[in-house]
Amino acid sequence: MSAQKNALVTGSTSGIGLGVAEALCADGMNVMLNGFGDADEIEALRTRLSERYNVTVCYNDADMTKPDQIRGLIGDTVSKLGSVDVLVNNAGIQFVSPVEEFPEDKWDAIIAINLSSAFHTIKAVFADMKLRGHGRIINIASAHGLVASPYKSAYVAAKHGIIGLTKTIALEGAEHGVTCNAICPGYVRTPLVEKQIPDTAAARGMREDEVVQKVILEAQPTKQFVTVEQIGALAVFLCSHAAAQITGASHQIDGGWVAK
Ligand code: NAD
Repeated sequence: MSAQKNALVTGSTSGIGLGVAEALCADGMNVMLNGFGDADEIEALRTRLSERYNVTVCYNDADMTKPDQIRGLIGDTVSKLGSVDVLVNNAGIQFVSPVEEFPEDKWDAIIAINLSSAFHTIKAVFADMKLRGHGRIINIASAHGLVASPYKSAYVAAKHGIIGLTKTIALEGAEHGVTCNAICPGYVRTPLVEKQIPDTAAARGMREDEVVQKVILEAQPTKQFVTVEQIGALAVFLCSHAAAQITGASHQIDGGWVAK
């Protein structure tokens, strides 16, 4: 079991964030959930995790585009759990379009949620992590933090940006027991990916089944999706004592995508 006690996972009502939150609960951590969704479903999720793993699970609906709500989320986590030992910056959105048609509001939203929100959460937890001499920060980047694809200008820019942020925070935390790493998944079959299949089909003039086979799985030499459980297990490892000297790194979990 990890020495870390309390974790905050942004965007954890769905997909990868939920998979990471569940893995941290299974490792014995208390978890603050965040993200959007149906209130009854989120409450059922919170109760299920808490009862199944015998840990405290809370929920805060902060909008990660709003710095004041992000500061409120950190304050609520400290007040309900006592500390933020593990911060997982996961909330993210996607939009697919040729750059000349890319809507400006979509660019702004992707940069705000996928990049700037991590700056605001880190800024709000960092002094306390340094003071207590331990902390784990994990940024869910992407294979698109290391390589590009067409029609994803904002997403690729934000994901490359968060890898730069990861390295900088690793250096600032290095002598204080605070590590900061990026996880770079390939394709995971979550709602975020499901939603971009029709958009990619339109942008490339392809059928949706062709997009899955020729664009999505074509990128991954294993020809298989990554699972949320595999990403959760990597996050648990990065929280462990064994990972104390792993910092500033980008961990690919992408079926060999960026090795090509
Ligand atoms: P998802 O759509 O299943 O989940 C996204 C989560 O973020 C949800 O909980 C949603 O409510 C939350 N969210 C969205 N906007 C928010 C906002 N403004 N404020 C608070 N919460 C908000 O997506 P996912 O595929 O699980 O993606 C999670 C992360 O993993 C993202 O950062 C994404 O870029 C990254 N990622 C996903 C894949 C993939 O193939 N699915 C691959 C690489 C990286």
